[in-house]
Amino acid sequence: MAARTMRRLHRTETPHTKWCTRDHRCGINEHRSADFIADALGGRAVITRVRAGDTDYAEIRARIPLHSNENGARWQLATALRLMRDLLDTVAIRPGALRSRTERPALRTARR
Ligand SMILES: [Zn+2]
Repeated sequence: MAARTMRRLHRTETPHTKWCTRDHRCGINEHRSADFIADALGGRAVITRVRAGDTDYAEIRARIPLHSNENGARWQLATALRLMRDLLDTVAIRPGALRSRTERPALRTARR
């Protein structure tokens, strides 16, 4: 009989955030907000704020009804992917854009 070993995973627990749900959606080192939902034309987009370790990110899910015509469905999929790339290009933080988590230059200039 072969010996079985169990690998122990060690994750450091992180505290809840001001915005996380503080319920079953949070894990030991991942915290999740309530879902932000937008419905339109039979589809649904959901954004959830997530902190994993020391990084915050937006988790985006969408359910988009596809055309019954295969060519139409493929066009929708290709267009959705192109627009997701545009979304990332528009909202992603570029390296060096923010010097720290608390420093937000756009907000500082808006308060004048
Ligand atoms: Zn939490």
